[in-house]
Amino acid sequence: MNARFELTGSQTDIASYPLWAQDMVSSCEDARRQIVSHPMWDAMKTATLDPVTTRNFMVGVWPVIERFPGYMSHSLLKTRYGRSPGDDLARRWLVRNIRVEQNHAEYWLNWAESAGVSREDVLTAEPPKGSQALANWCEEVSRDDSLAASIAATNYAVEGATGDWSQIIYDSQAYAESLPISGRKAGLRWLQLHAAYDDTHPWEALEIVCTILGTNPPVDQIEHIKECVRRSYIGMSITLDRCMDAPALVRTLNEVAA
Ligand code: FE
Repeated sequence: MNARFELTGSQTDIASYPLWAQDMVSSCEDARRQIVSHPMWDAMKTATLDPVTTRNFMVGVWPVIERFPGYMSHSLLKTRYGRSPGDDLARRWLVRNIRVEQNHAEYWLNWAESAGVSREDVLTAEPPKGSQALANWCEEVSRDDSLAASIAATNYAVEGATGDWSQIIYDSQAYAESLPISGRKAGLRWLQLHAAYDDTHPWEALEIVCTILGTNPPVDQIEHIKECVRRSYIGMSITLDRCMDAPALVRTLNEVAA
């Protein structure tokens, strides 16, 4: 029987969640590890990432950053106050956290600028071919899929994996020192906020997904959530691959128009 899930243990301990969620997390672990072990982070943490790839990364990932509150608003539109504890929890959390995400776009631009990629480039350059895998998937799942699926795919999976890699770079003194001293603190702010040790958002998102689905949801629903989480991880890996292997400098829209 499917019973209500209410978090009683520690929010940041996977053992506090229903067995199906523990199983979902472990069965997607391989795809998540692919992101964490991506060569992008090795190059960044040793401060050896070349300027072309740095630019491709800042430009290629930007649409997900810019659009993140938009994904959350799609999720918010699916909630109905009073319908279920999951709806209420999701609604309250989304309303609060869309506001928190507000500044993150600006912090990303600060990071880019500090890393030598101008604001104008990030705002207007054409992303590397194929790099929009993650942005397109997030848009699709947020707009068209269930509330549980969209929160699992974006707020749990994307933010969770982002927490892992942000921490890798934020921990690197070599990386910090590679940024010009003036503006360094502001340049590192985005990483600082997203590094896993400071960010409980993915756990909060997992709690919401479990509150919506309960302790023992139907197998097809579990499989669907797994699939969505996995697609987020794979989409993120593809996005990073395309930013890394794009051969030439991406051209700005202005250059394309000229
Ligand atoms: Fe954020």
